[in-house]
Amino acid sequence: MSALVVVGAQWGDEGKGKVVDLYAPYADLVVRYAGGANAGHTLVVGGKKQILHLIPSGILHEQTRCIVGQGTVIDPAVFLKEIETLNERGVGTKGRLLVSQRAHVVLPHHKLIDELREKKSGGAIGTTKRGIGPCYEDKIARRGVRIGDLLDVDRLRTKLDANLECWRPVAEDLGGTLPSADDIATRYAELGEALRAYIGDAGAVIRASIEADEKILLEGAQGTMLDIDNGTYPFVTSSNAVAGGACAGAGIGPTHIRSAIGIAKAYTTRVGGGPFPTELQDETGQKLRDAGAEYGSTTGRPRRCGWLDLVALRHAVAVNGLNELAITKLDVLSVVPKLEVCVAYELDGERIAYPPYERLEEVQPIYEALEGWNEDLTACRTRDDLPPAAQRYLARIEQEVGCRVGVVSVGPDRQDTADLRDPFS
Ligand code: GDP
Repeated sequence: MSALVVVGAQWGDEGKGKVVDLYAPYADLVVRYAGGANAGHTLVVGGKKQILHLIPSGILHEQTRCIVGQGTVIDPAVFLKEIETLNERGVGTKGRLLVSQRAHVVLPHHKLIDELREKKSGGAIGTTKRGIGPCYEDKIARRGVRIGDLLDVDRLRTKLDANLECWRPVAEDLGGTLPSADDIATRYAELGEALRAYIGDAGAVIRASIEADEKILLEGAQGTMLDIDNGTYPFVTSSNAVAGGACAGAGIGPTHIRSAIGIAKAYTTRVGGGPFPTELQDETGQKLRDAGAEYGSTTGRPRRCGWLDLVALRHAVAVNGLNELAITKLDVLSVVPKLEVCVAYELDGERIAYPPYERLEEVQPIYEALEGWNEDLTACRTRDDLPPAAQRYLARIEQEVGCRVGVVSVGPDRQDTADLRDPFS
């Protein structure tokens, strides 16, 4: 039993890409279990930037096999492009990468509807307009097109006809025109052919891997506070980003999962709309944005920045059953002389330790001031190498949320990491 889940513990963009990249050499199989091309993992290897939206970052390690699981939604053109880019960079994908035939396909009209809705609402949810929401809507309404359907033109055409029928009035109401079933069928059957070698029974591969007692790393997308059930609904993504989502999204039983590691930034960021109690709309917020390069890897949007919210993190520890935290971007806090962390919220004159139902925008964060360190951390390789104030910062997190901190990331590159160890040991 050696499956391990790595999950975002905040509002996404926690640096999961880097952490999964660090853990991948210890894994035989990396499985992405939720989300679509709205997530973007930025990896920096040897100073070269690589953004992956769908393919697990484990692909950069030769001996690691990767699966894009049934809980994800796939834009086949984006998937193909990522394969091509990796191949151009000398990263082989044949025989190492498989997408579940059960994963749902993001169709052109999903993107169209997503865009038209965002336009109409003035960007209220702040989706990435990649069609992810409408695709998951089709999945839940049982009228979706799945990756396996791309390999059977007749079935694809039949499903598309039924699917388009449902969206037609919606598109018309939003002032848009749907593409024709013929055009979509032709293009997507071509994409299916191009991807044929990568499409298969992912469940069987994962089952065999479990039977062989291999090490499996289950990689989430987005973060806990964006989870459809556990997040700040309705300002959330359309899937279960939490560790529990790994079971359904990869097709693995909970008894096969041995531990869950939550990735959290040393401060907080959020992209798009929705409540954000510790947001800093001042100079300090801008300092964090600049020092942390907090601009979306998928859309380039500036991320909202704020103090570390330990209430949100406590919630993440609880709903994911986290055994360990990986703290990223601790180096970014070096630019801020005096730090604050939110240890609780106040609502209706009461101190609360967990996010409330619905009224997150009304809470007042209760802060605790902590000393900054104003030192370059990038050369630190163990927790003991960190300045005492940074060590105290980590200890305070552990104390408040009741979860130990393992790996600490002190820069974007692989090597800028303290206390890395085999997460399966
Ligand atoms: P993900 O989707 O959770 O992987 O997060 P993103 O890739 O969108 O954002 C993380 C960004 O932070 C990327 O640009 C990383 O290169 C960068 N990054 C990751 N860890 C660190 C770190 O410890 N320090 C700094 N300065 N940057 C980091």
